[in-house]
Amino acid sequence: MARSKWYCPHTRTSQPPIGACFYRHREGRPRSRSALLRHSPGSSPRAIPLAYTRPMRQKVPIRAGLLVFVLALGGGLFSQSNPDWTEPFTPFRIAGNLYYVGSKGLASYLISTAEGNILINSDLEANVPMISQSIEKLGFHFKDTKILLISHAHWDHDAGSAMVMRMTGAEYMVMDADVSVVESGGKTDFQYGNTPGSLYPAARVGRILHDGDKVKLGGTVLVAHLTPGHTRGCTTWTMKVSDGGKTYDVVIVGSPNVNPGYKLVGNPAYPQIAEDYERMWRVLESLPCDIFLGAHGGYFGLEEKYPLRKEGGANPFVDPDGYKRFIAQKEQEFREELAKQKLAAR
Ligand SMILES: [Zn+2]
Repeated sequence: MARSKWYCPHTRTSQPPIGACFYRHREGRPRSRSALLRHSPGSSPRAIPLAYTRPMRQKVPIRAGLLVFVLALGGGLFSQSNPDWTEPFTPFRIAGNLYYVGSKGLASYLISTAEGNILINSDLEANVPMISQSIEKLGFHFKDTKILLISHAHWDHDAGSAMVMRMTGAEYMVMDADVSVVESGGKTDFQYGNTPGSLYPAARVGRILHDGDKVKLGGTVLVAHLTPGHTRGCTTWTMKVSDGGKTYDVVIVGSPNVNPGYKLVGNPAYPQIAEDYERMWRVLESLPCDIFLGAHGGYFGLEEKYPLRKEGGANPFVDPDGYKRFIAQKEQEFREELAKQKLAAR
């Protein structure tokens, strides 16, 4: 067989390169995937005759580039392409001075006061104009946003923060353990710090919050509860609202999720992650809850509850049992994942 015909124009060598070459080597038609995989040390060069053709030269680098791009973006790319996140949702009053101003998939809340407003979650940059429009539709002004808070330092809840601050001059208040993440635009995140699709414009924190700190404006008080694990500074917000002569305890859950790829056992980037989740369950179970809300509408059934809400009628967002069920379900999922990872680590 004519071994001498083999030549790789990419490595400029007559020997197979170290590792598989992304390029195809065949006159006329593309090589099969199996042949491509054989283009590695120890493989027979007989299967790899001559150089690639013009159409391949155009197509293959694009495909290879796309592959590298997808691998680099990893979970971030797929997460950011969730269409629900940027699908508008009708803004509405939840109860008292608390309003829903987020999208279908990303929850944002406006708390209106006589001294200006508080916004929880800036979401993606693409969501900011939508949030602004929702606030204006409700009869408030986006520029009256005085304080910006977040559920936790992940791009789907905080990528738009720098933009919100630029547009409104709001002060950014973030839980201590999430501060470096938001100020680095996601780069210090233990899981997604090296995932380009999860990075976003850095935003300066004006006030560093600690567990139990209160955020006060115009008579409204929000309490920041550290519920770590999902991020180090994941924050569950609580407040009281008065509606129809009653006072309700509101809980806005930060996030109880164990994301795909999260290492709960032997995680050098976040050694105490499992202990932090345990702490979160204790905190969430201890919070009194009438009105159950969270960082994503899916947590508390936004789409199902919204059509049931009528002025003067029973408020579907008053759902203490739904809150308990949600926490129990998420804790069970965590325990199953932890057991699986412990078993695998043995
Ligand atoms: Zn998250």
